Amino acid sequence: MHLSRFPRIRFVHGPTPLEPMTRLSALLGGPNLWVKRDDCTGLAGGGNKTRKLEFLIAEAEAQACDTVITYGAVQSNHARQTAAAAARAGMKCEILLERRVPDMAQNYETTGNVFLGRLLGATVTYFPADHDMNAAAQETAGRVRAAGGRPYIIPGGGSSATGALGYVSCAQELLYQAHDMDLRIDHIVHATGSGGTQGGLAAGLQMMNSGIALTGISVRAEQAAQVANVFAIAEAVADKLGLKGVIDRASIVVDDGYVGPGYGRSTPEMVEAVTLTARHEGILLDPVYTGKGMAGLIGMIRAGRFGPDENVVFVHTGGSAALFAYEDEFA
Ligand SMILES: *Cc1c(COP(=O)(O)O)cnc(C)c1O
Repeated sequence: MHLSRFPRIRFVHGPTPLEPMTRLSALLGGPNLWVKRDDCTGLAGGGNKTRKLEFLIAEAEAQACDTVITYGAVQSNHARQTAAAAARAGMKCEILLERRVPDMAQNYETTGNVFLGRLLGATVTYFPADHDMNAAAQETAGRVRAAGGRPYIIPGGGSSATGALGYVSCAQELLYQAHDMDLRIDHIVHATGSGGTQGGLAAGLQMMNSGIALTGISVRAEQAAQVANVFAIAEAVADKLGLKGVIDRASIVVDDGYVGPGYGRSTPEMVEAVTLTARHEGILLDPVYTGKGMAGLIGMIRAGRFGPDENVVFVHTGGSAALFAYEDEFA
């Protein structure tokens, strides 16, 4: 496994910290909780997409592209980080936003990530819920080409095999940190959406024969669909790294019990998880991803899934910019 064979532009302020969450661990009665601070990747508010964009934007540059096109839900953290990465690389950025979440507050379409995406220079276009966003990206690419530009389409969440290299790299970084700290990691838990984070982590952990269990807490898809989605990405990135067929499907574990009424819609468990983590650790989670991911981790602890001496790492994938669009949910 040799990540330096792939073009990469360094955006991440890394390695991101791996910190103990002692007060939250004590509150929940163990195991030993740790947090991998990928909310601190450093690019315009940070988050997990920055790791993927190191490889994606480098690929766009290698193909002499001048315009990046991507899409997501209205409060997409991925769109914000893509706008920032494009600005750093001197490329134009087209953001296509799907109105996926119904019944949101007045400021949902203007504050948080939307405001920041515009501030970072991206052009923002809205589409109705369930619109074919891949088709919309292709149409936008056609218009860019017709105007003499060279478009590069980044799929939703940056979850292509190229993007997932960022999380293979994170798995490597985490194991080096654990080694330096003499920390035996037993389990990793994080929020899973478009699947590139889990796919890259699963592939990296497996290719290094880590023996660490990995659980993705789904924020959208039901379990079987998300396992299939993550497995496909893990296989594709392993293949890209020259290790075809090494991914064990049984290692792809997804819990879909914390989605609630749907993507981006709040649940009491999410509100509890965000509030507890803020008040006991001084860490800001987000309402769409990490709040549900942490709710899943708390649910696993309460269900007795871990021994008291186990070391469990929560990957904080970012997203706190979206909190401002959800103020009413925390009233
Ligand atoms: C996109 C995102 C995720 C999910 O990562 P995927 O690679 O899309 O599964 C988790 N947390 C935050 C804050 C995100 O923005």
